Parts: sequence; C-alpha cells; structure tokens
Amino acid sequence: MVDAVKIREVGPRDGFQNEPERIATDDKVRLIEMLAATGLRRLEVTSFVRADVIPQLADADEVLRRVRIPEEVSVSVLVPNERGLDGALGHRDKIDEINVFLSASESHNRHNVNRSVAESLAGLETVLGRATAEGLRCEGVISTSFGCPYEGDVDPARVFEIGARLAAAGAVEVGFGDTTGMANPVQVREFFGRAQEKLPGVELTAHFHNTRGQGLANVLAALEAGCDSFESSFGELGGCPVPPGATGNIATEDLVSMLHEMGIETGIDLDALLAAAREAQSVLGRSLGSHTIVAGAVDHRPRAVPFGPLGTKRNS
Ligand code: ZN
Repeated sequence: MVDAVKIREVGPRDGFQNEPERIATDDKVRLIEMLAATGLRRLEVTSFVRADVIPQLADADEVLRRVRIPEEVSVSVLVPNERGLDGALGHRDKIDEINVFLSASESHNRHNVNRSVAESLAGLETVLGRATAEGLRCEGVISTSFGCPYEGDVDPARVFEIGARLAAAGAVEVGFGDTTGMANPVQVREFFGRAQEKLPGVELTAHFHNTRGQGLANVLAALEAGCDSFESSFGELGGCPVPPGATGNIATEDLVSMLHEMGIETGIDLDALLAAAREAQSVLGRSLGSHTIVAGAVDHRPRAVPFGPLGTKRNS
C-alpha cells in the first residue's frame, strides 16, 4: 500500500454550493484561510458557475480577490465551460489549477448540465486546451463513475473512455466521483486496478461520498489498488441534492484520522483541520456529519490507570 497520499479539500466548493443558505463571504474567506493553514496542499476554493444557477457561489470573484493562501497550496476552481474559464482567468495570479466535470451517464449529465455526454466532452476539450495553454494544471472529474441514480450500473469501460478523452485534451489528473454513494469496496478495488491499466501516466483521484456510510471502506479499497489521491470535504459538507437529505463527501478529518492511524502521511495537521471543521459547524449553526469532529483525534498517550497489573487486586 502507498505510504503517503495527496488530498484535495473541496468543501469550499462542493460543500458551500450545496448549503441551503448562502454563506457570508467573510465567513467563506475565514474558513478557506483556516483550511489553507492546515498543511493541505490542494484546495478547491470556489466555482465559476452562473449566479442564477448556483447563487451560493455567486461571490467567486470576491472570495478569490480576498483570500490569502500560502504559496505551497495549489488553488483550484471548478469551471463548467469556457465562460467559467474566462472568469477563472481573471484571477490567474491566484489560481494554479482548474477542475472540469461531466457525468459518465447520459441521464445524470442531462439533469446536471442539460447536455449530452458527447456535447459536454466537446466543450470541455476546448476548455482544457485553453487552460493548458495558459499554464494551468487541469483535472477532469467524472461524476456517477460508480453508478447513476437514474440509470443504475455504469460500465467502467465507458468511464475510462471518457477519462482517456479528458487526458488527451490536457487533463493530467482524472477524478472519479461516486456522486450518490453507490460504490462498494469490492467494485472500487477492481475499478482502480483497471483504471491504472487504461489510463497510464494519468494521476487517478477518488472522490467518494458517504451517502450509504461506505466512504472510508471505499478509500481503503482504493488504497489497496494503489490509488494515492483523494478528494474530501471538511465537516462532511456537500454532496448531491439527489436523493434529498443524502450526506455529503467523506469528511476530510475522518479521512486524515484514518490515514494517520494507518501510518500513511498526508502532511495535514489534524487538530488544525478539526478547528476549521468546528468553525464551519458554528457558522452553519448545525451539527455536521463528520465523526472525528465529535470524537477528536485518537489519543495514544499512556494514561495513569487506577488499577494494578493484571492479576492483582485493588485495595486488598
Ligand atoms: Zn462530492
């Protein structure tokens, strides 16, 4: 198994966009800066989408103008199309990467962006070409890679074909999204084994949702198949509005806690990350889904135990 992994925190985009209320820009800037100081090396800060479609991220320009993020953190934004790329390029000095996305299944892509998969791919190839020419690192994320809420099973061969198109157009990283939490660990292990054969030289990233509580089990399966790149969201924020009430991405603090306990490096300070997640909890005014936010980091320090060695009686 790998001994270090890369984690991209996507909460400020994937999380904030799925909140019913718009989070104040001041709060977003503060939370993003807290995250950027945790040792995270990859941070998706916002998205250049139409304000009438996703009003929660209508302040993308202001957020990017205001946030102060250390040099060593790679800043990315999600862009749906060329117009989004134009918006991102207005902040070229602040942005290192762009992420583009489409779904592997026709019905989910239609519901999400009102285009066929072929139309989405053609548009994204143009975006990836332009972004690469601008010197931006590019990731292509494929939603519903492990199953579709409308169509059921998704053929992995189709997912890899889409991944190959994205890579040929300039994506050096391809992310596979389990958008509605349909993946299971056996499927994930086999999927990443095959993905490495089908997409040689491409960084492969797992983006799991905890919709059915299998997020971390899927992480372990991906690790066992050699995957060393993950996307997650502090506080378990975000997710997909379908089905209603579904939980979000795997929580970054749960992921980091598990990896550190397994002896796998992330470079992230778990206590600093927990502080950011707790701050998000207080901004949103409700309990978030993360487990580690409740339990805290595992404490391995030896404690003073009120009993003697085994076999002896106390107060005898
Ligand atoms: Zn997600």
